[in-house]
Amino acid sequence: MKTLTDATALSAWAAEARAEGLTLGFVPTMGYLHEGHRSLMRLLRPRVDRLIVSVYVNELQFAPHEDFDVYPRDPEGDAAACEAEGTDLLFMPDALYPPGFATRVSLPALDGVLCSESRPHFFTGVATVVCRLLHLTRCNVAAFGEKDFQQLTIIRRMVEDLAMDVEIVGGPIVREPDGLAMSSRNAYLKGIDRERAVTLSQALFDMQARVATGERDVPALVERARELLRVDEVDYLQVVDSRTLEPLTWLDGPARVALAAVVGRTRLIDNVALEPPGT
Ligand code: AMP
Repeated sequence: MKTLTDATALSAWAAEARAEGLTLGFVPTMGYLHEGHRSLMRLLRPRVDRLIVSVYVNELQFAPHEDFDVYPRDPEGDAAACEAEGTDLLFMPDALYPPGFATRVSLPALDGVLCSESRPHFFTGVATVVCRLLHLTRCNVAAFGEKDFQQLTIIRRMVEDLAMDVEIVGGPIVREPDGLAMSSRNAYLKGIDRERAVTLSQALFDMQARVATGERDVPALVERARELLRVDEVDYLQVVDSRTLEPLTWLDGPARVALAAVVGRTRLIDNVALEPPGT
């Protein structure tokens, strides 16, 4: 496995591989890699000739009061994980944006709901970094987790809107044995907070089960789910159209329920698909 820290070197490496006719797969991450990240590498590995993984904690997607400075980092562990998954190129830059970088990519139509309400800077930061990384690698396919469902939706939209020549693949959420969605931020959870964190997935699975047995009234589903949560604050608990992210009040077809909640000082997100019978 080769490791590069410079954007120009990444771009040159990828251009050379493409010139040789090789296909490129790409998994962008912020590091502190866990099974969720690794599942995306495993998803792409058999599909491409060369697998690229990036590890970069993107300053553009953090607000000043957020956890950029303390975001967990483990470059050696990340390199070992990438190597074990058969990565060809690990891109681990200290800085990703050139001096004078002034561009922002934003998707206002998808940016007014869910996470964007409490983190208004967030998806512009994500879309901007992903756009830059996709241009640097010019990969054939890139993988993103359904764990960040709004992010996946936004990236699919951006790629379509900007006619970017890349396939976007979504990977299912990887969970701890008790159901907690894996996240680098789970490292913040200690003692009772770790126990309370599991109520996010429990509430969502309960909702999923109720929908499977015929409940379609969204306010009733949400009320019951809120009762199951043992968290300090619910940022949102919303049932949305899977494609447009528009909030729904009645289930006419497949939808997604998305949840963000604060446990102690840790903000966690999770989501599951809702599939009403007969739709
Ligand atoms: P992050 O390092 O948090 O920016 O995540 C990098 C990629 O890994 C994103 O596409 C995430 O959606 C994905 N990811 C993070 N956690 C999980 C998980 N538990 N299951 C599947 N994918 C995940």
